[in-house]
Amino acid sequence: RETPHHPLAAHGITATYNGFTALDGVDLSVPPGHITAVVGPNGAGKSTLFHCLAGTLRPDKGQITYDGHDITRTPAHARTRLGVARTFQQLAVFPSLTITENVQVGAEQAARAHSPETGTTTQALRLLSLHGDNTRHHPAADLPTGTLRRVELARALAGRPHTLLLDEPAAGLDSAEVAALARILRALAADGMALLVVEHDIDLVANLADTVHVMAAGRIITSGPPTEVLHRAAP
Ligand code: ADP
Ligand code: MG
Repeated sequence: RETPHHPLAAHGITATYNGFTALDGVDLSVPPGHITAVVGPNGAGKSTLFHCLAGTLRPDKGQITYDGHDITRTPAHARTRLGVARTFQQLAVFPSLTITENVQVGAEQAARAHSPETGTTTQALRLLSLHGDNTRHHPAADLPTGTLRRVELARALAGRPHTLLLDEPAAGLDSAEVAALARILRALAADGMALLVVEHDIDLVANLADTVHVMAAGRIITSGPPTEVLHRAAP
């Protein structure tokens, strides 16, 4: 995999909903080989920032750049093809498709004209321990939340992203599933991927992130390694 020289980054991002300022001048970068986390209370602006990075919300001010290019006006599907994949806070699998078909959709959505990939669906299924799963030919509608979260992650990974954006990936998972997820995310970062995790679960972030950004009321109020930042936030 080619590692982007310049990561996905937000520069002075301000976003409003009908005049309400949800993000107020946010700067953040998502470096390769690194797990970056955004934490903060409900309403802090985490999902709004996530949408600006993913391309599902246009900021009112500021720029989003990727690999040195301004992508502020690049729509979400085109960002996927550039190598920026995402998962959803609300699970977004196609209920009538099987696990395998759901993951194939991810591979197809991300297919980059210059580098058609083969075997990525199988690789993604293997990585998420779904390949040997007997349920992989069942409709997703019948499967438990823990499996669906893995399907979603496999679908994002099937496009071989350089950067992976995860909104509350631990939602609905039990502690064993959270631990398994953390192992997978660490392995992806060790392989050079840039990961951004927006997360409510402070324990997951404390054990996972290299850098934590704490948000409140639309701003990043402190940033640093979890040992410093999370300690200070909860003495
Ligand atoms: P978080 O993900 O940290 O809980 P959000 O980014 O979802 O925070 O929300 C930030 C603020 O913006 C909150 O006050 C929320 O009520 C408001 N907000 C979010 N989405 C919308 C929307 N679609 N319309 C109006 N206000 C919104
Ligand atoms: Mg949110």
